[in-house]
Amino acid sequence: MSDSFDLIVIGSGPGGYVCAIRAAQLGLKVACVEKRETLGGTCLNIGCIPSKALLQSSENFEEIAHKFADHGIQVDGVKLDLARMQARKGEVVSANVKGVEFLFRKNKITWLKGAGKIVAPGKVEVAGTTYETKNIVIATGSESVPLRGVEVDEKTIVTSTGALELESVPKHLVVIGGGVIGLELGSVWRRLGAEVTVIEFLDRLLPGMDNEVAKQFERILGKQGFKFKLGHKVTGATKAEAGISLTVEPAKGGEAQTVEADVVLVAIGRRPYVEGLGLDTVGVALDERGRVKTDQHFATNVPGIYAIGDVIAGAMLAHKAEDEGVAVAEILAGQHGHVNYGAIPGIVYTWPEVAAVGATEEELKAAGTAYKVGKFPFTANGRARAMGDVDGFAKILADKATDRVLGAHILGPDAGHLIAEMVTAIEFGASAEDVARICHAHPTLSEAVKEAALAVDGRPLHI
Ligand SMILES: Cc1cc2nc3c(=O)[nH]c(=O)nc-3n(C[C@H](O)[C@H](O)[C@H](O)COP(=O)(O)OP(=O)(O)OC[C@H]3O[C@@H](n4cnc5c(N)ncnc54)[C@H](O)[C@@H]3O)c2cc1C
Repeated sequence: MSDSFDLIVIGSGPGGYVCAIRAAQLGLKVACVEKRETLGGTCLNIGCIPSKALLQSSENFEEIAHKFADHGIQVDGVKLDLARMQARKGEVVSANVKGVEFLFRKNKITWLKGAGKIVAPGKVEVAGTTYETKNIVIATGSESVPLRGVEVDEKTIVTSTGALELESVPKHLVVIGGGVIGLELGSVWRRLGAEVTVIEFLDRLLPGMDNEVAKQFERILGKQGFKFKLGHKVTGATKAEAGISLTVEPAKGGEAQTVEADVVLVAIGRRPYVEGLGLDTVGVALDERGRVKTDQHFATNVPGIYAIGDVIAGAMLAHKAEDEGVAVAEILAGQHGHVNYGAIPGIVYTWPEVAAVGATEEELKAAGTAYKVGKFPFTANGRARAMGDVDGFAKILADKATDRVLGAHILGPDAGHLIAEMVTAIEFGASAEDVARICHAHPTLSEAVKEAALAVDGRPLHI
């Protein structure tokens, strides 16, 4: 037995590292186990951060190549230096993961390097050494869901990890899955010159998000050059020298067709990752989808073992994992940590962006909730016009009787920043009238949110 801790967190993604920091702040002696060479998990290494670095770079490229002329700026000879773009992405990742290392040192958190295995409640083995701990938090995250018949090699048939590392722009990229990750990475490579086809099983994009938003988003992406095969499934892939032949069938049955691609991105979702953790040995229960089962306080069925983040139920989002990390650390320190799952924003970092919080119209209908809708298009927002970014709208859903905000959905420029106001509104139980009466600076995109709130009561000013 080597050392003992109050808490050992397994996994250093946004759930795990934030949990470790909060627990250390509260005076616990904390270790965090990470088997990757660097801290930060999926999010910092192969997820949120590198994808946003490439989304920013590719959007800059697209602006110069296609949007600047409209502003009266002629730029000739624009060239892509993909190697530099990728190197910059690496620098951004490196700065972020080193930042977490710094935070560990600052908070006196021990990084146990290697794969962690729970050998018994209160005992975690890492690289041949067993450490004792009062509590364990499992924060081992998730991995890409594989697709039968489409074998990933991370070179020409890739998951998001390989799609972030491509060394040349594919001529034709086929994205399997019309969810957030597929559309973000599809955007990156389309902006850099690829023809992009998205094949999606459902007859819509962005499952789970507001349907009206998803439909308009599909039209906007279509104008940008995306091709869609909705209501179709990929049933096989054959690799040849010239590229990959995908067998594609209508989801409802019908004749198969062939789609040729030189790179295929499999982005059909992510699943919890618990491999090698020893959960069988200690008897930690999983649910029907392989997620670690927890109660409202993140406790598993085994005393002293907790779980947070992508490995448990709920949205697979970094900020959801972080909030759970804070909450469980506070619970372990005797406080009352809590996560409001009704106020977790979801954002698609394309351009325009899509951002949402709270209920969709479909959810309200299904629940039989009477609601009012207020909408305002960015075409009527002065700042959006000045920017030349008028696609999309802000939409607010409020309870018909009480006017309380139940959901907000924004498709438009900087929607990801704009949604923060509506997250605050939901968190504070605000009414649409409250949002409508707040002074919003002019000219800003946020005025579209205010106008949507006014529209809930049928009194928008600028349309
Ligand atoms: C391409 C992509 C883009 C994304 N973009 C966004 C975004 O913009 N915004 C957003 O909110 N979310 C985004 N996500 C999702 C986000 O990355 C995850 O929700 C988040 O990382 C989950 O955090 P986590 O702490 O639960 O797990 P993870 O970040 O997956 O971290 C788990 C860590 O545990 C380690 N681990 C696993 N098993 C063991 C073991 N036995 N011993 C030691 N270590 C172990 C892993 O190596 C990993 O580092 C994106 C994901 C991808 C793939």
